[in-house]
Order: sequence, then C-alpha cells, then structure tokens
Amino acid sequence: MSAAEAAVKFVTETPEKEITRVKEWINTEEYKEKNFERTALVVNPAHACQPLGAQMVATGFEGALPFIHGSQGCASYFRSTFSRHYREPSAATCDAMTEDGAVFGGQNNLFEGLENAYALYKPTMIPVFTTCMPEVIGDDLNAYIKNAKKKELIPADLPTPYANTPSFNGTHIHGYDAMLRSILQDLTTDKKIEDKGTGKLNIIPGFDGNVGNLREYKRICELMGIPYTMLADVSDVFDSGCDGEYKLYPGGTKIEDAAESINGKATVSMMKYSTLNTMKFINCEYSGAKEVLSMPFGVKKTDEMLLKLSELFGKPIPEQLKKERALAVDAMTDAHQYLHGLKFAVVGDPDYLLGIVSFLLEMGAHPWHVLCSRATKKFKKEMDALLESSPFGEGCTCYINKDLWHMRSLLATDPVAGIIGDTHAKFAARDAKIPLFRIGFPIIDRVNLHRSPVVGYTGAINMLSMIANKFLDIKDETCEDQWFEMMR
Ligand code: SF4
Repeated sequence: MSAAEAAVKFVTETPEKEITRVKEWINTEEYKEKNFERTALVVNPAHACQPLGAQMVATGFEGALPFIHGSQGCASYFRSTFSRHYREPSAATCDAMTEDGAVFGGQNNLFEGLENAYALYKPTMIPVFTTCMPEVIGDDLNAYIKNAKKKELIPADLPTPYANTPSFNGTHIHGYDAMLRSILQDLTTDKKIEDKGTGKLNIIPGFDGNVGNLREYKRICELMGIPYTMLADVSDVFDSGCDGEYKLYPGGTKIEDAAESINGKATVSMMKYSTLNTMKFINCEYSGAKEVLSMPFGVKKTDEMLLKLSELFGKPIPEQLKKERALAVDAMTDAHQYLHGLKFAVVGDPDYLLGIVSFLLEMGAHPWHVLCSRATKKFKKEMDALLESSPFGEGCTCYINKDLWHMRSLLATDPVAGIIGDTHAKFAARDAKIPLFRIGFPIIDRVNLHRSPVVGYTGAINMLSMIANKFLDIKDETCEDQWFEMMR
C-alpha cells in the first residue's frame, strides 16, 4: 500500500475557506452573543474539582494522609495537578472504586483502603473525602468509617474526619471549606475549656496555591509579636527542601495545635468564599474574636489587615512593616505610569478576584472583564460595589458562572492589554495576543511563582514589577527602531 493510500481519510473534509470563515466568525460580536446564550455546556472552566480542595486541606496537617474515596482517575488528577503546580510530591491515597463499587457500594473498597493506608503509612489522621461516583450512588461515609473502626481495621481513636465533596455541586473552594470544617470539628471535640485561652491567633489562609503568601502571613505575625497557629498550613509540605531524603510528612499544622485552636484569642480567615461553612462552625464553637478579612492585595487591603491584627492583639505596627509599606508606595509610584489607564481581564476564584481588582484600581488600571466560573450573586454584588467605589472601575463588568471560552469572546470583541489568571487562561491570552500574568491556581507552565508572595506590601511590589516589566519587554521587542530606547 502506498503512503497516499495509507493516509487517514477524514469522514468529512472541511474546505480551507470554511475554516478561515469560522476562525474569523468566532471573533465577532454575533458569535459572542451566541456564546453567552450557551447554557448546557462548559468549555475550559476556571476551577477544579471539590475533592482537590479537600486534598489541599488534608495535606496541611502534620502526619495526615489524605484519603480519596472514589476513582483512581480522579485521584491521579488531583495529585498530578498539585505536583505540577508545586513541583513536589503530593502524598495521598485512594480506594480505587471501579464498576463493582459503583453497583454494590464502596464500603469494601474503603475498608481495604483504610486498613492498608494505616498499616503502611502510619498517619496521625486520615481525612476522607469523596469523588463524584460514591456521591452519585449515595455511599454513607459516616457509617462506613464507623464500621471500619468496629472491625478494628483502623484504631478507634484515629481521627478520621470526612467530607462529602461531589464535583457536580461545587468547586475546589467548596471542597476546601467542607474538609476544613470537618477536620476542625473532629479535632476540637471536647477540647474547649472556658477561660483557658491560648492567647494565639488562628489564621486560615483559604485555598491559596501560593506558599509565599502563607509564609508572608506568618512573617507578619512574627514581626508583630503575635503567637499564631496557621490552620491547614501546606507551606512546608508543598515546598520542602531537597536534601536527598524523601519525607512522607514534611510539615503541616500540628494536630495538637489544631485541637487547641478552639481556645484561641482570635480566628481570622483570609478568604471569605473558601471558608463560609468553616467560619459558621468557628463562630458558633470557638472562643475569642472571629474575623473574615479580604486578601491583602495592594496597600489598602494590607493596611486593613495589619490594623485589624493590631486591634485584636493590642500590638503596634512594627517599624519594619512601616518601612515595607513606604517601599511599596514608592515602588507603586515608580511603576504607576506603566499601568495607569490600561485595561485588564481577570479570571480566578472569588477571593483572589476581589484582591486583584482592588490592587488594579489602586494602580489606576481598569479591571475591564472580571470573570469567575463559579460564584454566587452575593459575590457579584460585592465585586460590583468594589468596582463602583473607584472611578477606574467605571465601564468594568463582572461575569459570574462563565468560563474561559466566554472570556475568549470578550477579549476578541472588547480587547484589553493583559489578562491576570492561572495557566488555563493561556489559550485565551494567545488567541488575543496579549500577555498572561500568572496569579492563581494552578500555574503549571512556569516555575517558582508559587514561592513569590502576591499579598502584603512585598506581594504588591512583586505583582507590579511582574506586570510593568512585561509591558516594557513587549515594547522593547516590538517597537520600531526609532523608538527603541535605552531607558524606559
Ligand atoms: S468531576 Fe468528579 S469524576 Fe471528574 S475528576 Fe472531578 S471528582 Fe472525578
């Protein structure tokens, strides 16, 4: 058979002319309208599965082994996403349900999985969470785990908090919330002692893929002399050093500190939308003050955070942080001319979006298209109020429950200078021929960005340097010879 005869013959040949026509058509206003009428299909959503968020929480406690009740494929997706983002191993186990589990229920899978996981890895806690399959068939995790303990497959006193995390009803931030609430409920049972007061601050970072942010929060507490417990602290787990020895449990919040957190002096969540249910529990059960803060992106939000911490603990703002604030204001002034008046598209999780939009408004830039692929009307109201609070928010629009294919239409019909979001936005950015500034989760096509904080005064400098310098690079690479300048 000749090569020509062996070549694949397409069932339907699409003429080149037709390909060109469609390529042009998908950039039109007419197509955008049709695209925004779409209801039955999601294309490239900017969020991940519920259980992935649960796994992040479960990873953040010392000696804890995340346990996925469900399919192996789902587990591989969560683990590979974390490994690609952090470039670290992501320890977790799964009971690998298959067709028989789907028909008869997953109790036997869970029994075997728990027994093996405990025997092999000796965890201090096994947080269990589900993928879609056991949720569709209605597996009763509570009963299954109790039965496993009755059968002595795992010790009766081993903490085994569980969360139902169906991905058809929520995203990674909801899974984060459900798992964190369950772990805190489990670990703090009978631990509340009236008037005991640890004097500590509990910090909940929320679903934040940037370990630099977590470290920045801790550094700020240390500078202010505030004793703290970070709950679900993944910073040392997902960013451990390379010393030649593999550690299965390289860090995380100590179990005893998490148990004691119920007697803290104050609890602060840095992400409202990924801790809604956790904070409901904490508001009812925990001692001390409770606060939900905005992520400290830019100077204004960082000021608000520091003043709140200062008020809660009666500590003055240290000179070092005042100096860092002055440096951030100076850096913003220096970079202002390169961002002022530019339009941006922003995509991501609700709390990240509120922070980034606040930062852009502070810099005199326009967050022109703000898109969240899973959010409530309450979030939209909050975002609209933020946009209305600044003259730079005029004309900007917040879209909820839309995906990155919607974003592509927005970029094609109403262009902006750049897009801020995670790696998934690179396709829309490429089609629109604009730069993508990688802030969010996951970032799987660049290295080390998860180590560089974007919160606090330091984060503000990092962000504006990344954005302003990229535009200067573009100018140098694309300008005509007579405009190629030594200084910019
Ligand atoms: S959507 Fe459900 S089935 Fe698909 S990977 Fe996520 S958890 Fe697994």
